[in-house]
Amino acid sequence: MDPIVIIGSGLAGWTIARELRKLDKSTHVTLITADAGDFYSKPMLSNALASGKLPAQLINTPAETMAQQLDVRLLRNTQVTAIDAGAHRIDSSAGSQGYAKLVLALGADPIRLPLEGDAADQVMSVNDLWDYARFRGSIEGRKHIALIGAGLIGCEFANDLAGAGYRVSVIDPTGYPLSSLLPERAGRRMIEPLQAAGVAWHFGEAVSAVNKVQLGYRLTLKGGNAIEADAVLSAVGLRPRTALAKAAGLAVNRGIVVDTLLRTSDPDIFALGDCAEFGGRVLPYVLPIMHASRALAQTLAGKPVEMAFPPMPVIVKTPTCPVVVQPVARDAAGAWQAEEDESGLKMTFTDPQGRLIGFALTEARIGERAALTKLLA
Ligand SMILES: Cc1cc2nc3c(=O)[nH]c(=O)nc-3n(C[C@H](O)[C@H](O)[C@H](O)COP(=O)(O)OP(=O)(O)OC[C@H]3O[C@@H](n4cnc5c(N)ncnc54)[C@H](O)[C@@H]3O)c2cc1C
Repeated sequence: MDPIVIIGSGLAGWTIARELRKLDKSTHVTLITADAGDFYSKPMLSNALASGKLPAQLINTPAETMAQQLDVRLLRNTQVTAIDAGAHRIDSSAGSQGYAKLVLALGADPIRLPLEGDAADQVMSVNDLWDYARFRGSIEGRKHIALIGAGLIGCEFANDLAGAGYRVSVIDPTGYPLSSLLPERAGRRMIEPLQAAGVAWHFGEAVSAVNKVQLGYRLTLKGGNAIEADAVLSAVGLRPRTALAKAAGLAVNRGIVVDTLLRTSDPDIFALGDCAEFGGRVLPYVLPIMHASRALAQTLAGKPVEMAFPPMPVIVKTPTCPVVVQPVARDAAGAWQAEEDESGLKMTFTDPQGRLIGFALTEARIGERAALTKLLA
C-alpha cells in the first residue's frame, strides 16, 4: 500500500501529520519538503528582533525529531517537481514516489514588485526562517531600514525593527496602516504610537526603483521623492503556490481550490494552509490551519468531516499599538460604530438586521476580543 504523502513542512504540513497520528498510528506517512524541515513558529519571525531571539532559537523541534516523534518518513531538501494524479505518483529531486492520498501544504510565495534599478534584486522579503536568518544578518550594525508595505506583516516588522532600535521608513500607496483589514479610523490609531517609536510613514507613495548608493540603497518614489536606507524589506503580500497543482490539472483560482472536505478537484488530493482556497477565500493564518488539520486528519483516517471555519479574529503583533480585527468584506452591507477614548478604540460593524459581523479593537480595548467573538453572527 502506498503511503499518505504530505508535501511541505510548514505549520500546515507538520500539523496535519501530527493530527493524523493522533487518530491513526499505523498508516505509512511520507513528508517531502523543499526546505530543511525544522518545525518553527513562523509568526515569531516578525517579532523576534526586539526580543533578541536568534534564528536558531526560533526552531521549536528539529526536523529529524519531528519525523521520529510522528513516525513519518521525511525527505527534506527535496523539491517535488510534478504530480501525476492519474497514476497516483509524484516526481521529486529524490525520484518518483507513489501515494494513496496526497496532501498539498505548499505555502505561498512573497509577491515581488516589478521594480526598476540596479539593486531591485537585493530587496528582501521574509516568509520563512531561512529568509529571516539572511535578513537579520544583512541588517546587523545597520541603522535605517526601508519597508515596502504597511499591511499586517509590514506593520509587525516596522514595530519590531523600531523596538530593536532601528529607524524605519514605511512606504505604502494606501492612506493608512493595515488598510485591507481595518476601517480607516482604527488604522489611523496606529500611526502616532508607531511614529513615536521610530517609524516614519510615507502613505500615498509607491516605490518605482531601488538603486545601490555608496553605503546602502536609494528608493525612488513614483512622485519623484527618494529615501535612502541601509536595507530594503518588501512585505506586499503573498501569492499561494499553485504551479504544481495547476500543471497536474487541478482546479486553481487564487489558491488551490478545495471543497468542504479540503479536497481538490481530484478526490485523492487535498490542500490546506497558505496554498489553499476555501469558499473563494485564501486564509493565510495560523488558526485556519489548526482547524483544517483537525478536520482533514479525520477525513484521511476514514471519517470524513466537513470543514466550517468559526470566526477567527486576526491578532496584529504590534505591541506599540496592539490591534485585533475580525475583518469585514469591503462590499458588506451595514455600518461601523465607534467608541474611542485614550485607552483605545472599539469599532463594531453590524449588518442591516443588527447582527454583529466584524470588529476592530486597539490598545486596551483588545481585551474585549473574546466577548465580541462570541457575539459574532
Ligand atoms: C512574518 C510572518 C508573520 C506572521 N504572523 C502571523 C500571526 O501572527 N498570526 C497568524 O495567524 N498568521 C501569521 N502569519 C501567517 C502564518 O504564519 C502562515 O499562514 C502559516 O505559517 C503558513 O503555513 P503553511 O504550512 O501553509 O506554509 P509554509 O510555512 O510556507 O510552508 C510551505 C512548505 O511547503 C514546502 N514546499 C513548497 N513547494 C514545495 C515543493 N514543490 N516541493 C517540496 N516542498 C515544497 C516549503 O518548503 C515549506 O516547507 C505570519 C506569516 C509571516 C510570514
